[in-house]
Amino acid sequence: MSTLLHDFAEPQQSPLLLLGQNRDLDSERGVECTGELPAPSDPNLVERARAAKEALGDRVFVLGHHYQRDEVVQFADVLGDSFKLAREAAARPDAEYVIFCGVHFMAESADILTSDSQQVVLPDLAAGCSMADMAAIDQVEDAWESLEDAGVADSVVPVTYMNSSAAIKAFTGRHGGTVCTSSNAEVALRWAFDQVGGVHGTGKVLFLPDQHLGRNTAVEKLGLGLDDCVIFDPRKPQGGLTDAELADARVILWRGHCSVHGRFSAKNVADIRAAVPGVQVIAHPECRNEVIRAADHVGSTEHIIQTLDAAEPGSAWAIGTELNLVRRLAAAHPDKQVHYLDSTVCFCSTMNRIDLPHLVWALESLVAGRVVNRIVVDEDDAHWARVALDQMLALPGI
Ligand code: SF4
Repeated sequence: MSTLLHDFAEPQQSPLLLLGQNRDLDSERGVECTGELPAPSDPNLVERARAAKEALGDRVFVLGHHYQRDEVVQFADVLGDSFKLAREAAARPDAEYVIFCGVHFMAESADILTSDSQQVVLPDLAAGCSMADMAAIDQVEDAWESLEDAGVADSVVPVTYMNSSAAIKAFTGRHGGTVCTSSNAEVALRWAFDQVGGVHGTGKVLFLPDQHLGRNTAVEKLGLGLDDCVIFDPRKPQGGLTDAELADARVILWRGHCSVHGRFSAKNVADIRAAVPGVQVIAHPECRNEVIRAADHVGSTEHIIQTLDAAEPGSAWAIGTELNLVRRLAAAHPDKQVHYLDSTVCFCSTMNRIDLPHLVWALESLVAGRVVNRIVVDEDDAHWARVALDQMLALPGI
């Protein structure tokens, strides 16, 4: 379990608002902001953010995820994906405060990887991740019991995607598994299979929480079949799987997905190819397998950025990832055609919870000597999550 601290309040249990569930103002503290949230219409927001950041100097380090709004990104000291940002935070031990403009699980990872003297702040606590929320620790513990009851747990190694709560990372560490990112999922899966007899043996991987990254890696990178993968649905007894299905499976995929990348379809790819002759399609591995198979290139956020940087002037691209990043890439590459893969707008709504008013509120509060929306992972979870993260860092080629 993680504990969230707010203002000067004593540490308290404060679950993040789960998407799609009832409105809970107690857990939406970033929305309430104790009545101090600047109005979005305030014409001085940019100046206020600049002044507060200047007043804090090197005491504050602002991290910005690639999917953040431009109004926030302009104040980031570094831009990156979730893992790069957590490492950047750890490389700045002199910064007393780390403001994480991203989502909750990212701020947790930053808290795990930074020193005890550093405080990590998430400007809006309602900035969660729909995918991470799809795997609650109680559900995962129950699932593991189901695997034990079915007699397969001894041959299962858990692998969790970076996009998961600290509690899930800790579960993975406790059970001898590893964390992975979208860049190193293939290496992580090969390592996990090696712990139980190799890719062509009979051992299994439990992949959390993104079924698409797990399936795409197992099938497209490791050469396993689609029928080697089963989906564990936490809402059904024993995941909706029989003992025989669990015994035969090589990859047990958690029923989770990204609400942004899960929207793209093979039809989107066909439509853009028909509309833009010669277009190259590049998609994130959180997309569905039909999209990955239809795309020309597949890769992480950082890979997508590097591919566009290296692309020939005049080339045409359709990008299957979050819209803030695609817009920024289009602006950065006026010599190339940059299209969004879907015809409908698709921001990450939780990433977008972090806006300029919340950033100003977080910065000005620090100037006033108040740490708001601090993210703290409890010691035991932090220890075991770090074990799983260290295992990832020890993987070959990382
Ligand atoms: S883009 Fe998807 S995986 Fe990333 S934070 Fe948003 S919901 Fe989560």
